[in-house]
Amino acid sequence: MAFEGLASRLQNVFGKLKGKGKVSEDDVNEAMREVRLALLEADVNFKVVKEFIAKVKEQAVGQEVLKSFTPGMVVIDIVNKELTNLMGGTQSKLAKSNRPPTVIMMVGLQGAGKTTTTGKLAKLLQKQNHKPLLVAGDIYRPAAIKQLQVLGEQIKAPVFTMGDKTSPVEIARSGLQHAKDNGNDYVIIDTAGRLHIDENLMDELKQIREVVKPDEVLLVVDAMTGQDAVNVAESFHSQMELTGVVLTKLDGDTRGGAALSVKAVTGCSIKFAAMGEKIDALEPFHPDRMASRILGMGDVLTLIEKAQAGIDQEKALEMQRKMRTAEFTFDDFLDQMEQVKKLGPLDQLLDMLPGMGKMKGMDNLKVDDKQLGHIEAIIKSMTKDEKVKPEIINASRRKRIANGSGTSIQEVNKLIKQFEEMRKMMKQFSGMMGPKGPKGGMK
Ligand code: GDP
Repeated sequence: MAFEGLASRLQNVFGKLKGKGKVSEDDVNEAMREVRLALLEADVNFKVVKEFIAKVKEQAVGQEVLKSFTPGMVVIDIVNKELTNLMGGTQSKLAKSNRPPTVIMMVGLQGAGKTTTTGKLAKLLQKQNHKPLLVAGDIYRPAAIKQLQVLGEQIKAPVFTMGDKTSPVEIARSGLQHAKDNGNDYVIIDTAGRLHIDENLMDELKQIREVVKPDEVLLVVDAMTGQDAVNVAESFHSQMELTGVVLTKLDGDTRGGAALSVKAVTGCSIKFAAMGEKIDALEPFHPDRMASRILGMGDVLTLIEKAQAGIDQEKALEMQRKMRTAEFTFDDFLDQMEQVKKLGPLDQLLDMLPGMGKMKGMDNLKVDDKQLGHIEAIIKSMTKDEKVKPEIINASRRKRIANGSGTSIQEVNKLIKQFEEMRKMMKQFSGMMGPKGPKGGMK
């Protein structure tokens, strides 16, 4: 996950500060020296670091802060606010035209993730009940058109293409007309990239922009390329007047420098962050939430939003009822797991919980998607009866289940034990709560 190094370093610095009852000016200076190094090591632009540290210091060494009851916390709060400001302060939302369709032009270098992001953005818009049309304007990269068509099929969004013999400008013009004729309220145009910025590319992009008059020109940059991404953004912005940036590959081990410098260096806001290759791995970028993730304060809001979007409410209610009446079976357990899995890779979810980013490194807390796969295989190897009444699973049955699921008897034992403990706890809860929940009406 991106920012891991930066996050753990900053959390160390502030951990020391938080523990102190009294914080002197020297303590703040020392902490800021470490923050400065951490930011530079995370590949944040050096000018940006310098200004950042100056701003934090200016506020942090004031007498009021140092005299407050929790000076360490006040300093963290200042850093949190300044990190948020650095990334643009508030969320920069996607434009919406008063006269649909809203036209979004995707630009960027080859390999940055433009085509993939085009599909992801369409999916995000569909979730908000929009009807996006994808336009295949990258006629140079072999397979780009096919790639977009495959993405379109996957999310059931229409893809407009005229093959690779028509000029991209003409494709964009016709694509826009097609959207108007077919009631699509968003048009996302995938354009060609190059390995490096060159004049031909810029000319072509400018021509497309002239013709379709986009509401958004989004630059897709690969966060893994660090300061290069910022340089690319600067060049594109000076020629194309970008309206926003999409940072991709934030799931990789990028040090985070691009995310922290793009806005400050180019003045252009990050609108979305892509955190994986899957079609739903795109999130609107919230500077405040990203800052709290970096500082180990979690991002509970995004987690809740994901849960609301991904979890089937009726199922959740049914599950709650079963837990209360202790009718919970292995099938329900599996169901619940599936629901959680839909929210995204586990390690990314853990990062959103306060303090969990740090705990993740601990061995006994390692939960990976592979382990979940084993649990799933074990449960699927059980008979109907076994799933409902795990107490009948004796030694020979355990052996059969382990064989059937390609796991070990130890793993089967562990899962059954965990499940029994879970059930026991549910019984205790349901005893405490009665059939309608606890007094006071907590649901
Ligand atoms: P384009 O040349 O800019 O259109 O780039 P593509 O959309 O073809 O993406 C290039 C590669 O990056 C593909 O293998 C994508 O799967 C991968 N990719 C795109 N976005 C992400 C992301 O957020 N995370 C990861 N891990 N890979 C990504």
